[in-house]
Amino acid sequence: MNNKTLAIIKPDAVRDNYIGEIITLITKAGFKVKAMKMMQLTTDVAKAFYAVHKERPFYNDLVEYMTSGPCVPIALEKENAVEDYRKLIGATDPAEAAEGTVRKLYAKSKAFNAVHGSDSDANAEIEISFFFSKEELINNYPA
Ligand code: ATP
Ligand code: MG
Repeated sequence: MNNKTLAIIKPDAVRDNYIGEIITLITKAGFKVKAMKMMQLTTDVAKAFYAVHKERPFYNDLVEYMTSGPCVPIALEKENAVEDYRKLIGATDPAEAAEGTVRKLYAKSKAFNAVHGSDSDANAEIEISFFFSKEELINNYPA
């Protein structure tokens, strides 16, 4: 599997009303939306999603940020999805993100950085399953 990735429009970008603009950049870059929902993460869900970062000094702040309002997880499909999507969103810190990238345009800081993207094919699969059931993922997008 090398054609899927999980995006999340994070709470700061939802609050700032950037959902539409970010999805437009994503779809104009050739990604197909396979499944999408808007949801408020509970602390337990945010902790579980970011468990890989639990030893990092910013873990508690990250969980607080991700539960500060609704977010929009999106399962995306495209050839070379993980790499192409990370290129589209730019570096974690918007100060280092290339011109025209989602984070350059919409992120406030390294901590409040507007969007998430899976970092490997294996994690994309885990993360998509974390947010979407099998039923939500089948038969709902054009071939
Ligand atoms: P994401 O996983 O959200 O796509 P990323 O892979 O670019 O982002 P990670 O290293 O996985 O970055 O960090 C996960 C998230 O934790 C970042 O997107 C950011 O919101 C937050 N974060 C990362 N580094 C820091 C930091 N030094 N200080 C505060 N928050 C941070
Ligand atoms: Mg990451």
